Amino acid sequence: MNIVLLGPPGAGKGTQAEKLSARYGWPQIATGDILRAALSEGTGLGLEAKKYMDVGELVPDEVVEGLVEERLGRDDAREGFILDGFPRNAHQAAALDGYLSARGLSIDLVVNIVVETEVLVRRIAGRRACRQCGANYHVDFNPPAEEGLCGQCGGELYQREDDNEETVGNRLDVYLGHTEPLIEYYRPCGCLVSVDGSKSPDEVFEAITGAVEKVLVRE
Ligand code: ADP
Ligand code: AMP
Repeated sequence: MNIVLLGPPGAGKGTQAEKLSARYGWPQIATGDILRAALSEGTGLGLEAKKYMDVGELVPDEVVEGLVEERLGRDDAREGFILDGFPRNAHQAAALDGYLSARGLSIDLVVNIVVETEVLVRRIAGRRACRQCGANYHVDFNPPAEEGLCGQCGGELYQREDDNEETVGNRLDVYLGHTEPLIEYYRPCGCLVSVDGSKSPDEVFEAITGAVEKVLVRE
């Protein structure tokens, strides 16, 4: 099944994509993670992307669209995929549709994760990730057993450079200006479902899997 997770920064897209991938086996394709991996490897692409990520702007469409198309073409995405953080504007959504329709494919489910701004800011401020395995934590909502250490691999936890107050404000503005309009872009497909993302991760997951199961029954 081909899924898009829509929602503002901090809505829980990565958290839910990881859970969905573990349950159903479809790969999580997170453009932010791909860009951060390129940056930590010190590639030209990573360094170019950093200029935009540091200030909370979108990395140019042609760069991100190329990365996603390459990733979607891999074998493990044949049975389905979970897009997390892509598309982020109308150009990317049209590029995705073009790529899929040229292959006789389409998006089966778009999950819009709804969370109010105040909660987003708290989530982003407390977000931590493992340098080694990428596992996701929150200092209050999902703390590691041992402070600063990943419970899964023992790696060091760090705070993303773009999870600071100034950048977050810009990322939320970019979301409102460019990404939120995608809700209307996807509405006519009949595959759009909104879930209340302010509930616990397990409750949000239950709502999303409910939507996934409905599509699976239809297929
Ligand atoms: P996104 O990928 O949409 O930016 P994340 O999945 O990284 O969001 O979540 C942002 C932060 O909020 C993380 O620290 C995560 O652990 C925490 N988080 C995610 N979902 C929830 C939830 N339902 N309730 C409380 N905290 C959450
Ligand atoms: P995220 O990890 O999804 O919060 O993304 C972090 C940053 O990576 C964003 O603020 C953008 O600078 C960049 N980025 C991630 N996904 C995209 C995308 N689809 N298009 C453009 N830039 C992106």
